[in-house]
Amino acid sequence: MDPECVELAEVAERFFRAEAAPSERAWAAQGHVDRDFWKRAGAVGLLGCSVPEIYGGPGGTVAHDLAVVDAQLRVTDYAFGVAVHSGVVIHYLLAYGTEEQKRRWLPPMVSGETIGAIAMTEPDAGSDLQALRTQAVPADHGWTLTGTKVFITNGSMADLVIVVARTNPGKGSRGLSLFLVDTRTAGFTVDRVIEKIGQHGADTSQLTLDGVQVPPEALLGELDRGFPMLMEQLPRERLFGGVTAVAAMRRAVDLTVRYTHERTAFGEALFGLQNTRFELAECATLTGVATVFVDDAIDRYLRGDLDTAAAAMVKYWCSQTQGQVLDRCLQLFGGYGFTREFPIGGMWVDARAQRIYGGSNEVMKELIARSLAADYAGIGAR
Ligand SMILES: Cc1cc2nc3c(=O)[nH]c(=O)nc-3n(C[C@H](O)[C@H](O)[C@H](O)COP(=O)(O)OP(=O)(O)OC[C@H]3O[C@@H](n4cnc5c(N)ncnc54)[C@H](O)[C@@H]3O)c2cc1C
Repeated sequence: MDPECVELAEVAERFFRAEAAPSERAWAAQGHVDRDFWKRAGAVGLLGCSVPEIYGGPGGTVAHDLAVVDAQLRVTDYAFGVAVHSGVVIHYLLAYGTEEQKRRWLPPMVSGETIGAIAMTEPDAGSDLQALRTQAVPADHGWTLTGTKVFITNGSMADLVIVVARTNPGKGSRGLSLFLVDTRTAGFTVDRVIEKIGQHGADTSQLTLDGVQVPPEALLGELDRGFPMLMEQLPRERLFGGVTAVAAMRRAVDLTVRYTHERTAFGEALFGLQNTRFELAECATLTGVATVFVDDAIDRYLRGDLDTAAAAMVKYWCSQTQGQVLDRCLQLFGGYGFTREFPIGGMWVDARAQRIYGGSNEVMKELIARSLAADYAGIGAR
């Protein structure tokens, strides 16, 4: 958090407090944030912070993108899919886009006129991305895409979806490619916004591509290199998971300290009870440790030194700790923790998804274990 990040975080926090927090209920009811909200966020400089000035951005870094998401979760919920838009989709364009692709898509993504999504998951392929079935078949003027994608964040509102599709059947992970799909193209439909147990305001949708024709220039990056591109990009997505976890923990501890000072039982504030004090002391400590852990990972990312296993550790441990802290904080709210009168209950449910998306925590542990196996290769033979 250099002075520039701090300033941006303050702008973001004020914006989310004034413009997002009051709309939480309405967005939860409709299953997505208002389109106009994206444009307002763009107007105050909260979208695409990493985009260079020549493409309409402020020329910042991932630290700036993360400062925005951190402010969001310290003030409001997960409804606004800015982590996917700015932290994922824009970075794929920056990393693999041609000059033409960047000029076409980046400026409207910075202004909020174009909303981005990425579609990897399918009804029968989540953790196992090599099992993806969506096909891209060469056609006269480009490619024809056919398949179904599920759980796509920003899915029903997106103008641009990066679709992962199979271009080389029978080649497993060596036969996948990425396509930039304009959602106005014929054959692209939003089947439904998925009804979830939490993160109600977040637009999580099922999409169908039924013979969607895209031009040759819709291919993003090299043909058949989709899988290594995903593997290159996923560590950053996991960093966003870690940052949102820590921000939500900080908010939970803050809300709970305040609540337990106000609520009384047996003639004193709940905060005066030793159990409350010990629980909050532990939650604050876990949050402090997570903050340092995530800060170190951000530093490493910015130095180009955050490997797959380290990113997996951040995503797994921070999301798991988030679940633990939220659960303990909710308990201190008693019955009110289980109501919608206070945000803590919603935060507790919302936290649950963090252990599942962005690569489930089991998959994270598998990645960490694989790096251990590589580090200790040959040990069994000695
Ligand atoms: C709110 C939300 C938003 C999402 N947003 C997006 C998005 O924007 N784009 C997108 O493409 N996807 C998105 N997803 C999908 C998400 O990434 C997948 O749900 C996740 O990767 C898990 O895949 P799955 O649901 O198919 O579960 P499965 O892969 O079926 O896994 C089921 C269980 O088996 C375990 N498991 C699987 N493989 C292994 C293994 N090798 N070892 C041990 N255990 C294993 C898993 O950990 C899990 O507990 C989103 C999901 C949610 C809930």
